[in-house]
Amino acid sequence: MSTTLGNRMLLVEERIKQACERSGRSREDVQIIAVTKYVSLDTTRDALAHGLRHLGENRWQDAQAKWEAISGNEDQSAVDHQPIWHFIGSLQTNKVKDVIGKFTYMHSLDRLSLADAIDKRASQLGIIVPCFIQVNVSGEDSKHGIEPDKLFAFVAQLGQFQSLKPIGLMTMAPYESEPEETRTVFRALRELRDELQLRCPQAQSITQLSMGMSNDFEVAIEEGATWIRLGTILVGKEEE
Ligand SMILES: *Cc1c(COP(=O)(O)O)cnc(C)c1O
Repeated sequence: MSTTLGNRMLLVEERIKQACERSGRSREDVQIIAVTKYVSLDTTRDALAHGLRHLGENRWQDAQAKWEAISGNEDQSAVDHQPIWHFIGSLQTNKVKDVIGKFTYMHSLDRLSLADAIDKRASQLGIIVPCFIQVNVSGEDSKHGIEPDKLFAFVAQLGQFQSLKPIGLMTMAPYESEPEETRTVFRALRELRDELQLRCPQAQSITQLSMGMSNDFEVAIEEGATWIRLGTILVGKEEE
């Protein structure tokens, strides 16, 4: 079987479609973030040429060269396929200045000090930054994210920020050899979103769910994912 990008996209697209059909969802309600952290600049350009628009990176140190080559040009109109960048990794507060203004979406908001730093930087730049709140649903020590029982208080505190807009929740499921076993994690994130919507007046903008990776995106879609973050299965994984 060919492993070219175009073929991988077709296979992934078919699986997304089927997961949408199984769960009675519309295909347009699920967007793909191509996670390019494991691939070169050339492969990233290839992904853009194939029509992938949303790119995800999890470390600024690794993303910088790609970002500058693709989006760092002063004359953006000269570049045909401008991506929309998503920052999906945990972010140190002192890196906020590097990332805000370059990445449109933040997927890893997990503490008030980070919210404060993002808000200050965004305000300097005169922009509003859409953010996903990362929730540690599975409770693994290794996972970043806010604990579910602290989420409501956290959302209430975000109300003080003018230049940061919470738009959804994000989680990572533990890796399972049987993807079905991730379902409880994704379902719990959806239920948290629904509960926030019902009970928290500050949470009306929190509608989206960033969940599902190469190993478990179909289950995530069935449980309501609106953004899936696909690396290995879509753009591949290259050795350094
Ligand atoms: C690396 C990464 C992904 C993509 O991982 P794959 O399993 O290769 O699809 C998605 N989300 C986050 C937060 C990541 O760090």
